[in-house]
Amino acid sequence: MTRLRMRDLSAIPDYKPGKATGPGTPHDPPVYKLSSNENPYPPLPSVARALADQLSAINRYPETAAATLTSVVCERFGVHPANLVFGSGSVEVLSQLIRATAGEGDEVVFAWRSFEAYPMLVLAAGAKPVMVPLTPDHEHDFDAMLAAITDRTRLVIVCNPNNPTGTTVSQDRLDDFLARVPSDIVVLVDEAYVHFNRRTDTAVGIETMRTHDNVVVAHTFSKAYGLAGLRIGYALAPAPVATAMRKVAIPFGVTSLAQAAAVASLRAEDELTERVEALVAERDRIAAGLGRLGVEVAESGGNFLWLPLGDATAAAAGAFENHGLLVRPFDGDGIRITIGEPAANDRILAVCARLGADAELTAAR
Ligand code: PMP
Repeated sequence: MTRLRMRDLSAIPDYKPGKATGPGTPHDPPVYKLSSNENPYPPLPSVARALADQLSAINRYPETAAATLTSVVCERFGVHPANLVFGSGSVEVLSQLIRATAGEGDEVVFAWRSFEAYPMLVLAAGAKPVMVPLTPDHEHDFDAMLAAITDRTRLVIVCNPNNPTGTTVSQDRLDDFLARVPSDIVVLVDEAYVHFNRRTDTAVGIETMRTHDNVVVAHTFSKAYGLAGLRIGYALAPAPVATAMRKVAIPFGVTSLAQAAAVASLRAEDELTERVEALVAERDRIAAGLGRLGVEVAESGGNFLWLPLGDATAAAAGAFENHGLLVRPFDGDGIRITIGEPAANDRILAVCARLGADAELTAAR
């Protein structure tokens, strides 16, 4: 067969989505999908109504300028439209920024382990991911990240709170880091989980962006707002960076349905905040319960918990699955478990109690 003239993409790993429960009859007892950091709540009625209202117009392309959403977001954060860029999920916003800053031969520095998509998106842009191990406390190692910056570095990503460890970066540490990063290198603060964080010392991306010409913040409607299936996220960026990002964006990448749902969500923020508070309370309840069982768990600012199980990861993931909990294992490293509905969360504790008794969760650490 003729070898087609294509790029060699063999270095790019496949994105592994969290395991899904799959189609078919409902399971009894139910199987819970705790593998993708989704929000377990169904759409608010006001959001569902906004979507229904849009349906009659889906024969038309979406409005590229997203005028209504732009004005709501700009008012909400006190930013200028020139600083706002939307994408098909914040993952597309990340992709825009990576492609706007880095190409063949360039480097992008970020901590590892972190969001699975970073290395893939960097490699897809032709650039080189420079992955700097987290500290033993699962935190960003800023000294090592600074040491990894070279003449080829075009972008640094700080994931705060970090997926999958849930650890946060304080304002002091971020400010200190930014003071030492060359000011012509763009720094992205990925705040996909910011709404779930309750630590008061954590860096605030938007405020940081306001005072630095090289800082970009990414937010998503997928997590706290529960719109993962609609794909919409945004960046707040210095105007020249935002202009560059728009140039590499997918044309019409943000659907009219996604825009309408995002507007309705921002108008229903009080109701959504109640849900977020409930998830935060559940996260803290489960973290405390795991602590009482002697299971090591990192303090999390996200809607998920990180169990650094090392070599016991695969066996523990199998045990969770056998008990109807689909979790996210990273082989040899740990398991990320999304906080779901209370019954699912109760089951996390029940499985861990059983595993703890079998010493599986404490083995091989
Ligand atoms: N950033 C981080 C840290 C994430 O964990 C995710 C989703 N898992 C995203 C960005 C992308 O989310 P979305 O594209 O749904 O906005």
